[in-house]
Amino acid sequence: MTDPVEDARLRYEALIENIRAANPSVKTEEIAAAYAFAYEAHGDQRRKDGSLYITHPIAVAQIVNEMGLDSVAIQAALLHDTLEDTAVTHEEIARRFGGEVADIVEGVTKLTRVVYTSKEEEQMDNLRKMLMAMAKDIRVILIKIADRLHNCRTMEYQTREKQLEKTAETMEIYAPIAHRLGLSRYEQEMEDLCIKYLDPVAYEEITRGLSEMGHRSEEFMAHTKENLEKHLSEAGIDASVTCRIKQIYSIYRKMYGQNKELSEILDLYAFRVIVENVTDCYNVLGHVHELYKPIPGHFKDYIGTPKTNGYQSIHTTVIGSEGIPFEVQIRTWQMHEVAEYGVAAHWKYKEGKQEKTGDEKRFEWIRRLLESQQDVEAQDFIHTMKVDMFGDEVFVFTPQGDVVNLPAGSTPIDFAYNIHSAVGNHMMGATVNGRMVPFNTSLQNGDIVQILTSASAKGPSRDWLNIVKSPQARSKIRQWIKREKREENIAHGRAALDAELKRLGYGIRDLGKQETQAVILKKFSFPSLDELYAAIGYGGLSAQKAANRVRDELRQMERPSEGDSAESIPSVPVFPQSNRAVHGVVVEGLDNCLVKFARCCTPVPGDAIEGFITRGYGVSIHRSDCINFLQSGQEKGRWVRVGWARTDELYPTELKIIAGERDGLILDITTVLGGLKLKIDAITARDEGDGIAVTYITIEVHDRDELMTAMRRLYGVRGVSEVQRAGGKGIVREGR
Ligand code: MN
Repeated sequence: MTDPVEDARLRYEALIENIRAANPSVKTEEIAAAYAFAYEAHGDQRRKDGSLYITHPIAVAQIVNEMGLDSVAIQAALLHDTLEDTAVTHEEIARRFGGEVADIVEGVTKLTRVVYTSKEEEQMDNLRKMLMAMAKDIRVILIKIADRLHNCRTMEYQTREKQLEKTAETMEIYAPIAHRLGLSRYEQEMEDLCIKYLDPVAYEEITRGLSEMGHRSEEFMAHTKENLEKHLSEAGIDASVTCRIKQIYSIYRKMYGQNKELSEILDLYAFRVIVENVTDCYNVLGHVHELYKPIPGHFKDYIGTPKTNGYQSIHTTVIGSEGIPFEVQIRTWQMHEVAEYGVAAHWKYKEGKQEKTGDEKRFEWIRRLLESQQDVEAQDFIHTMKVDMFGDEVFVFTPQGDVVNLPAGSTPIDFAYNIHSAVGNHMMGATVNGRMVPFNTSLQNGDIVQILTSASAKGPSRDWLNIVKSPQARSKIRQWIKREKREENIAHGRAALDAELKRLGYGIRDLGKQETQAVILKKFSFPSLDELYAAIGYGGLSAQKAANRVRDELRQMERPSEGDSAESIPSVPVFPQSNRAVHGVVVEGLDNCLVKFARCCTPVPGDAIEGFITRGYGVSIHRSDCINFLQSGQEKGRWVRVGWARTDELYPTELKIIAGERDGLILDITTVLGGLKLKIDAITARDEGDGIAVTYITIEVHDRDELMTAMRRLYGVRGVSEVQRAGGKGIVREGR
């Protein structure tokens, strides 16, 4: 080996030459200063192959230059390991090279510090999102990809253990990020390098197979290339034709994923035709299909419909001489830049034309680029990208290295309840990155959060409801308050209901009479007033809603008392109006009688119904399949025929939903109903044990059709096994 110092010097000179070639007007003094600083900082540190450590930052800067990034990024690339591996500080870099360079170096360092342990796919996705979110500046991610690529290129010097660890991480984190950003050149190189270490046997098999075909391959490629070039130049099209054997990892995926032989891979040979403009792309396609027979179903127009990461090209697979199939990719030079360098190509394109702007501005073009694409996958990607870059989410770590995904602005309390409700309920304090913090601290991407718990903790306070950001934490805190603070809830609820009733001209004192109490409690389905107050107190029932219903009930009780009679034949109170239908119901032989809907079976228009003449409260409407109607033999004489009239009124009706207990169930149920624009009057949920949750929900519908639609939709909610209508003592199942 040459002298390491001399070796480093030569590599640095090559770098400067390439930078000048890419951008003749670049000021290399700043780059030289960054190099000198990094050289000094790394001192005599060595790489595993014996070369000076500085050769690694030089190589990373080479890749960053190849990506087309600016001088700031190149300086940051040279300095990227100084914060991590040497005594250098952020302030020092900022003082010498400016805040922008220092921030990028710090960003790369943060990503380097993220600890990776192999996880399930969902965790991976979060981790990738977190890295993107942490990066803030896209150059941070690009430098990190360059860093990782160079590590992969020099992997042979690492121990076997390190090789497996780093390549697995690259495959699961960095290659997908490179893919997402459209850096296909680097994605493919990383994948090929990694598969060599992750599955050496298969890698060996593929490379051996390819080299056995070697001679024949070369002949075929040369012949086909010549033929294509000849025809295109005769047609007057200025085109560059190249050919290569498909990427090893993509052969690997087809062989081991789709169980194919090497000879069965149709696009083993990939020809690439690059032209000046889009019109020529389609012209070339015409010529290719004229020369060779296309294979049906293998034509893809990514020019008309670009891929999510911005990739554009026409792909077609045709049959060549000797029946050998091959793929042709047709694109313009500009599309080629994007295909190879993705996001970086756009960055390069913009650079120099624009003033320095904030991050938002810088990302705007990425967003626009993505939003201009139409396919479904793109929608998904746009969403992800927005999340990544503009953050309505925050990603933090547990001390064990699991990534937890919370709404932006979340606090240690949200984190605690995300881990487990018991952790939240026993929370005493929290540390972020090892330091004690107040409960209302808002968490930042990459924070390591630890919750300190104690069996003697007081439990959550009502104030926490105002601090937390996640719906789960809020509902778990409510649950706890409901369970643990009964006395307090009763007092709270009583006071709140009293206040609301006073606004309506009533008061708690109106609930004093025994009969009144009985009616009200029946209406609300609570066994006692305390239960009613408690429900209001913990927030399960709004005081305002409760007050309105109490008022309605009090009014109704005031009314029929005039017509009340103690005779054995019940009288039906009659309203002074002349409308035949009341609440959409026509009672045979009786106009304008007081009509009420039975709470046991909550009928809606479209249901077959029966009327029951009550003592003093008019006609009560039941469904014909209500158990109370079916089992009322001895009182047959009090049932009258009733029917529905046309009406626009809304009818509250109750459903019982049986489902596997899980987080977010109620949210999903209410989302479905919200989607149907249905008003929800009440929800109560009960954990039945054995992982079963029963939810009673009262919704308002216009008719039976609307109700059936809602029930069918509710079956679509994950985990729901039964949706039933209330039907007296029994429950009648319908709606599937
Ligand atoms: Mn590095």
